[in-house]
Amino acid sequence: MTSKIIDTDFLKKDPVFGQLSFDSHEQIVFCNDKDTGLKAIISIHNTVLGPALGGTRMWSYQSEWHALNDVLRLSRGMTYKSAITGLNLGGGKAVIIGDAKTQKNDKLMRRFGEFVNSLSGKYITAEDVGMETRDMDVIREVTPFVTGISEHKGGSGNPSPVTAYGVYMGMKAAAKYKFGSENLAGKKILVQGVGHVGETLVKYITEEGAQVIINDINESRLEELSKKYNTNVVLGNDIYNLDLDIYAPCALGATINDKSIHQLNTKVIAGAANNQLADEVKHGKMLKEKGIAYAPDFLINAGGIINVYGELKGYSKEESLKKTENIYNTTLEIFKYSDKENLTPHSAALNMAQNRIDNYKKERNS
Ligand code: NAD
Repeated sequence: MTSKIIDTDFLKKDPVFGQLSFDSHEQIVFCNDKDTGLKAIISIHNTVLGPALGGTRMWSYQSEWHALNDVLRLSRGMTYKSAITGLNLGGGKAVIIGDAKTQKNDKLMRRFGEFVNSLSGKYITAEDVGMETRDMDVIREVTPFVTGISEHKGGSGNPSPVTAYGVYMGMKAAAKYKFGSENLAGKKILVQGVGHVGETLVKYITEEGAQVIINDINESRLEELSKKYNTNVVLGNDIYNLDLDIYAPCALGATINDKSIHQLNTKVIAGAANNQLADEVKHGKMLKEKGIAYAPDFLINAGGIINVYGELKGYSKEESLKKTENIYNTTLEIFKYSDKENLTPHSAALNMAQNRIDNYKKERNS
């Protein structure tokens, strides 16, 4: 009889922390409910500054590993987004594994809400991809730890217009840094992705007199918006070598990658999409070397989190917009700090956010 050799290499590795995108995450909660078919993961990255607030994404992930990796990455991003924005919030996020179009129902939402409730406010949820204001209203039936509920129910509603306003502020700050003036009139700007955020951004910048080009995979949307606003349309994926002043990624993440970075012919990048840099260190450095001013995504797209944060203390749209306007000052500050310390703007923003967390912790413990 031959003995079977068992590969025990995996036993030498730590099975959890140190795998995938784990980065000092505080707590991961796996939510499983046979009756509703709910499979969700809540990731709490950091709660030094306050409760971990971040949206829930419903997505048909390729595998559970992909879902776990995504929620780890997204929740870490929320920690830094809230910290750099000056909010007293930690970073968290949740993912529900499934197709939002075919598998979402109120029972599933309520069951998910019960899991959120079981964390007693350490995690507060909101909308993300695949979720809508109505879903937040359903979750609210079983837990108070949810934001982004309907305006008629005392909530802040759809955060996208406020997100777009923040992106607009960040874009103007990047223009001020790069061109010496925040005025966007005459600037050639490509907006990639004209969904909820992209459309409002197009409205702001066309009103200011920018020469706007729009791109989307949804051609009917392009047709509709090109009629509504004064814009040109570019179809297809062949957009990265367009001669531009500003490129605004407002569709997907990782559009700044090994391939596109060599084609990019722009002076500024400022958009809403999360995780625009495929590799935040490598591609951040390459952009700096090319002389492209990159406004960190997690800083300039923080309008949405500012908006839902307002709900925790009694919502006022004016107050949210006022706070969001400050993204202009913070973005300029980041560019100056990155030059002074010879850092990429992305690293500079991460440093500043981490410093705020560390100082808060020191003060609290002293
Ligand atoms: P959305 O789904 O409403 O719009 C995205 C648009 O991008 C759609 O019109 C879609 O057709 C288009 N698109 C998808 N793939 C594309 C491709 N390959 N090329 C060109 N267009 C493509 O989403 P949204 O709410 O407008 O958010 C846009 C981005 O901003 C997302 O990355 C989101 O994560 C990020 N973001 C949004 C908010 C918010 O408040 N909505 C807050 C922070 C960050």
